[in-house]
Parts: sequence; structure tokens; C-alpha cells
Amino acid sequence: MRIILLGPPGAGKGTQAKMISQRYGWPQISTGDILRSAVAEQTAMGREAKKFMDAGELVPDEVVIGVINERLTQADCQAGFLLDGFPRTVGQAEALTTALAASGGKIDMVIDLRVEAEELVRRLTGRRICRACGQMFHLEFSPPATEDVCDQCGGELYQRADDNEATIMKRFDVYRQQADLLESYYATGGAYHRLDGSAPIEEVRGALLALLDG
Ligand code: AMP
Repeated sequence: MRIILLGPPGAGKGTQAKMISQRYGWPQISTGDILRSAVAEQTAMGREAKKFMDAGELVPDEVVIGVINERLTQADCQAGFLLDGFPRTVGQAEALTTALAASGGKIDMVIDLRVEAEELVRRLTGRRICRACGQMFHLEFSPPATEDVCDQCGGELYQRADDNEATIMKRFDVYRQQADLLESYYATGGAYHRLDGSAPIEEVRGALLALLDG
């Protein structure tokens, strides 16, 4: 199964994608994670992407399309995959359709998690992530047992540089400009489903599993 998770930053795409990936074995492909690794490794692409990421803007289409095209040719993607944070523009969606069609494939399901801006700010400003294993915590909703330490692996927790209120609002504006266009792009194929992402994690999880198993 080839799945896209759409939704604003903080909608829970990463959390839910991890869960789906573990349950069904499809790799979770997050362009944000791939770009953050490139930034940490200070590759040429990472240095270019960082300027946009720090400003809460989108990295240019040709860069992320290149990243995805390369990732999707890897062996672990052949039985299916879960895209988290891609596509974010219609140009990216079109490039994905073309790339899949070249090998006779298509997207099977598009799940759009919708959440309002105020809730996103609350979620993102409290978000903490383990540097070692990627496990996510929230200072208010799911705090770690020991401050700044991962419950799962003992790794150090960090806050993403772009999880501050000003950059979050910018990221949400950028998202909003594209969200309806992406919905229109996918609405006609019958694969599009919209879910309320503001419900608690377990409820959203249940709704997602019902869709996937249904
Ligand atoms: P995320 O981890 O998905 O919230 O992405 C973090 C940042 O990486 C975004 O604010 C963008 O600057 C960049 N980014 C991630 N995915 C994409 C994409 N599909 N297109 C453009 N920029 C992206």
C-alpha cells in the first residue's frame, strides 16, 4: 500500500506514521527527517535547505522531489510506503504521480489530518524529540519520566529549531496556502480521506486503522 499523510505541522503525521509503519511494515518516509539529517551532516543540500527550514518556508520543489525520487527507488519501498510531509505542493504531487506511473504504480490512499492553528501551536511548542531514537514527547500531554531524557532509550531530548511560535505561524501560513490545492488534486481519484486530527492520539489512531483495514 502506498499512502500519503497530509496535514499541517503538528497534526500528528509523524506520530501516526510511526505507528502505521510499525504495524504494517511499510517504511515511513519523512522529507523533514531526511532534510534535518542533511542539515546535521552539513551536506551541500543540507546547507541549502537550512535557510528555508529556519524561516519556516518550503524547501524548493526540485530539491525535495529529488530526495523523494531517490528514496522511493530503494528496495524497502517496493511493497509500499508511507509519506509524511510530502507532497506539500501540487508540483510535488504531480512529480510523485509521474514517478510512480513510470513503474506502473499509484498512490492508494491519501489521509488528510486537519487541526486548527491554536491547537497546533500548543502541540508544537511543547514537543520534544529524542535525538537517538526519534521518540516524541510533549511537556504537557506525554512528558518523559525524567526531564530531557527519553523513556525508551535514555537518549537526550531536544526541541526542533523551527518549533517556536513565530516560525510555527509561518509554517502554518505556508501550509494553508497549499492545503486546499492539494485536496483538490487528490479529491477526484477516490483515494482521498479527511480525518479530524484534533482528537486524542489514540482516537486518531483508531480512525486511521479503520480506514487502512476497512
Ligand atoms: P516537517 O518535519 O515535515 O515539519 O518539515 C520541516 C521543514 O522541512 C519544513 O518547514 C520545510 O522547510 C522542510 N520540508 C519538509 N518537507 C518538505 C516538502 N515536502 N517540501 C518542501 N519543504 C519541506
